[in-house]
Amino acid sequence: MQDYRVSLEEIHTYVKNIEDTGKVASYIPELANVNKAHFGIYLNNLKGEDQHIGDYNIPFSVQSISKVLTLSKALQLIGTDVWKRMDVEPSGDPFNHLSLLELEEGIPRNPLINAGAIVIADILVSELKDPKNEFLQFVRDITNDQTIAFNEKVALSEKNTGFVNYATANLLKSFGNLKNDVETVLDFYFHQCALEMTCKQLSNAFYLFANRGNCMRDVAHLSLTQVKRINAIMLTCGFYDEAGEFAFEVGLPGKSGVGGGIVALLPNEFVIVTWSPGLNPKGNSYLGMQALEQFTTKTGKSIF
Ligand code: GLU
Repeated sequence: MQDYRVSLEEIHTYVKNIEDTGKVASYIPELANVNKAHFGIYLNNLKGEDQHIGDYNIPFSVQSISKVLTLSKALQLIGTDVWKRMDVEPSGDPFNHLSLLELEEGIPRNPLINAGAIVIADILVSELKDPKNEFLQFVRDITNDQTIAFNEKVALSEKNTGFVNYATANLLKSFGNLKNDVETVLDFYFHQCALEMTCKQLSNAFYLFANRGNCMRDVAHLSLTQVKRINAIMLTCGFYDEAGEFAFEVGLPGKSGVGGGIVALLPNEFVIVTWSPGLNPKGNSYLGMQALEQFTTKTGKSIF
């Protein structure tokens, strides 16, 4: 077993010396209040010999990272029928881009852009009796942690400023690719974005994508094929219009969120989560990107 501790300490030293750490997301007022100085890493090596640095145990807003979890739940519920309602091509667009190109004839480019994630939210609203609570329970189960919760203040802040998401949902509705009413679907979507988790909890949740669909308690939640598809989508679509750069610099499937979190993984080896709220101009955590680039370069561990 490789000891990554040296790498994590070197990375911490490296990022501490970076002066420009990006800007905290300000388009959602509640996110603008987060202290930019936070930095944490959690490395889960799938064998229970985890390592961590800094603020790995402070909950933060997972934002778009939740899109991987809702996609997983939708695949669990309706399987490949998900792909009748969206594509799997990278969009090359910023996270909040209301691009008609994202939505050819109402079909979003992929499930990790907002348009796709809103269709996934619609599927969960249709399929679950108590959508928000059942989704939350799914996240708690795969993480093996019953304390995970939505931050209602963040959800409300998203709703009050979610004009582009309302426009996207209305456009989807006009194309017939939203079965439920816009308000209900967006209420679910704003809550999933407002999930709060720590680096450690996220690494435990994403364990199943590195462990062939089985969570830390060894319960099977997804098939091997589903995990393969989800990891492929993370690699090609997980970083807005910086997915190519992430594959180039880091070389792992992963997903970022505007709360400053990034989750990345190497199948059968590890899950690594970074949190630093300052974002680069593309909306990805500035120090998180640097830290992960350093990690895969120093350890030589990437899918390539
Ligand atoms: N709640 C955000 C939005 O839909 C998600 C942003 C993100 O992390 O990409 O605007």
